[in-house]
Amino acid sequence: MKLGPGMQDTWDVIVVGGGGSGLAAAVSAASAGLSVLLLEKRPELGGTTGIAVGSFTASGTEYQRRADISDNPDDHEADAALFGPPEVQARNNAAMRRYFLGHAAETLDWLRDLGLNFHGPSPEPPNRAPRMHNVVPNAKAYIAVLQSHLLRLGGEIVCEATVKRLTTFDAAVTGVEVEIAGEGTRELIARSGVVLAAGDYANNSQMINRYKGPQFGAVEGINPYATGDGHRLAEQAGAELVNMDITYGPELRFVPPPRQPFSQLLPSRGTAAKVLGKCLPLVPDWVLSKLIKRLLVTWQHPENSLFDDGAILVNQRGERFCDERRSPEREIAIASQPDKKAYLLLDARLVDRYSRWPHFISTAPEIAYAYVDDYRRLRPDVTTTGDKLSDLASQRDIPMGALERAVSEYHSSESVPKRTREEKSPWVLLGPVKSYFTTTEGGAKINQQMQVLNSTGQPIPGLFAVGQNGLSGMVLWGHGLHIAWALTSGRLAGLELARQATGST
Ligand SMILES: Cc1cc2nc3c(=O)[nH]c(=O)nc-3n(C[C@H](O)[C@H](O)[C@H](O)COP(=O)(O)OP(=O)(O)OC[C@H]3O[C@@H](n4cnc5c(N)ncnc54)[C@H](O)[C@@H]3O)c2cc1C
Repeated sequence: MKLGPGMQDTWDVIVVGGGGSGLAAAVSAASAGLSVLLLEKRPELGGTTGIAVGSFTASGTEYQRRADISDNPDDHEADAALFGPPEVQARNNAAMRRYFLGHAAETLDWLRDLGLNFHGPSPEPPNRAPRMHNVVPNAKAYIAVLQSHLLRLGGEIVCEATVKRLTTFDAAVTGVEVEIAGEGTRELIARSGVVLAAGDYANNSQMINRYKGPQFGAVEGINPYATGDGHRLAEQAGAELVNMDITYGPELRFVPPPRQPFSQLLPSRGTAAKVLGKCLPLVPDWVLSKLIKRLLVTWQHPENSLFDDGAILVNQRGERFCDERRSPEREIAIASQPDKKAYLLLDARLVDRYSRWPHFISTAPEIAYAYVDDYRRLRPDVTTTGDKLSDLASQRDIPMGALERAVSEYHSSESVPKRTREEKSPWVLLGPVKSYFTTTEGGAKINQQMQVLNSTGQPIPGLFAVGQNGLSGMVLWGHGLHIAWALTSGRLAGLELARQATGST
């Protein structure tokens, strides 16, 4: 959609970014009667939210009540503190995370009322209760449903519209300067506020260099368009950015499949999606597990235990280039290999071991597990099998003899545990894998009204931040909290904008 030269340039609310948090903010504000313009730099909506698995973790939900699970946000906050490294948890903004967790269940109700369906709740220890709700069929459903509601409510969406600058008057943010494909640059005014919802900076090497260190600069973000524009805009307006060095990853992940994975082709809107959602409680768990497995082999990372058990990491030249078991050195080293790619070499012993529980190649914890055969079937593009190492090399364009040298070197290396050298077939080469940041965890400091705060802790008038832009120092480790935050913060920002616009308390 284009704005067109004749179209209005003043709105109540301008939202920067059409992922989960931006769409939630836009729908919430438009539902309260505000005029809303949503600007998205890409030709289509979605952002990282649109490529996610779609899990939404929350406590005290209707889904839990229906399953006789008694739960509450206080327990949830205590459990959330058990995920991830303690030194990262030590930097959490506890008051803000508790506030968020206290509002996540309402957001799930809101999404259900808008027409979304969820599977679960599923367990994810150390959460003491099952809290993970998975949207059906995948995260694209959030985008499709919110988009159609926004349009129905009279909101305007303009794609290929990149916000370059915030406009200000005195200390207040008054609007944006946006570059629209085919139309040039325009200045637009937001009477009530601008909402920053532009996602993270996982693929902005300058920001990664600056905040995390130059050794991580060559690591890519899974979402190549996650370039930190919202953080830059917030900083220019005087925001305080916090926890900017914390990242989810780098992690090894398989490169994406050449074509859309099957689950992405499932209907995420319209009657077909509704039918799929309503039928879900009738679908046996093993069918759901198969469905989720498809998604599981799309982006997931190979388990670290593979390296503890003897998987050898080689580059495109078939050379070992690091100690496989040392992270993040391993991830940093991969990013400087040819094409930033590597492969995991599995001998027959490992192929057998990783063919059944409890040894899996990848997992969405407690939901589904993918073994060697799942990769052979569902991701033949990253699974090469051969009777001899030379078979693998010829299929993957690796120089002849290099894999044999890598195996010999591995077994003579002092730093790897000694085990019997296996020469039986089959050999399996998994990859390419790359080293990726899944998300970055830094964001603008905000208050409970989602208003951006400056370095003295005062709200910057007219400026709101949601999703990854407004993380405010929260640590959202584990599955499902990022999307829960994106959609909760967006919903709450819309309510706050409406409250301020109408002067209600
Ligand atoms: C593979 C993968 C799987 C994941 N799975 C889950 C999961 O199951 N559960 C979970 O909780 N989290 C998950 N996450 C994390 C989660 O998806 C994200 O943290 C969250 O969706 C971010 O939402 P957002 O609205 O802040 O950003 P986004 O969804 O990225 O939206 C930002 C939007 O802003 C646009 N934009 C950027 N700059 C500009 C600009 N200058 N002008 C206009 N538009 C702009 C972008 O193009 C984008 O569309 C996953 C992440 C990845 C990579």
